[in-house]
Amino acid sequence: MPSQSPKRLGLFGGTFNPIHYGHLRTGEEVVEALSLDRLWFIPAAVPPHKAPQGITPFEVRLEMTRLAVGDNPRVEVSDIEGRRPGKSYSIETLRRIRQELGPTWELYFILGLDAILEIPTWKDFRDLFSLCHFVVLDRPGYGRRQLEEVLREEVDPHFQPLADGTGFQHPSGCQVLMQATTLLDISATMIRALVRSGRSIRYLLPDAVRGYIIKNKLYL
Ligand code: ATP
Repeated sequence: MPSQSPKRLGLFGGTFNPIHYGHLRTGEEVVEALSLDRLWFIPAAVPPHKAPQGITPFEVRLEMTRLAVGDNPRVEVSDIEGRRPGKSYSIETLRRIRQELGPTWELYFILGLDAILEIPTWKDFRDLFSLCHFVVLDRPGYGRRQLEEVLREEVDPHFQPLADGTGFQHPSGCQVLMQATTLLDISATMIRALVRSGRSIRYLLPDAVRGYIIKNKLYL
């Protein structure tokens, strides 16, 4: 029987409080650049690195993420982190996804350069690099040396640069790929602050999400 070529699944985690065009456009560009078959946005139920007080309930952030994605056939919203108690550690999410999907899917974990430089503070971080590839959202020329330092000094000294200069390879075969994307200077913090001060958030996020925020009086 001919072997099936693996499919590529992108995993884009975040607090998404709320999701905005910075996240959505980045997801779209990564799907295109890496020929991903599917992209999942994964809202964190209990983000391990954010103070829990005042974070909008998970179900509300999940609903806004679903509204933002709409009927895009390649993109899905996963509630996987809401299905287990306690902090939403990425290692547990990845192990679960790996278990559920089996080996036919290659996993691409998408995160900002700032986030991967902090990875030594994550639970069981060394194990992540045998479970999935990483797509690091990069600004040209910025922080590559720091990334290499963190990978070699904190994760595994045997990381090797890829011949085409796009990233690094772990001895497991998993790669850390740097991907330049359009930089949209939008943050959820900025959106919450605009709402609080009664100003417009139009064109920073999809209208469906803006309508939901207004209707439910979020962030006031
Ligand atoms: P907050 O302002 O509340 O901290 P945020 O807008 O940074 O939120 P998160 O949900 O914390 O959004 O981010 C999830 C992921 O999206 C992170 O990996 C982060 O690096 C990335 N991200 C956030 N904003 C942008 C943006 N404007 N463009 C591309 N990626 C982004």
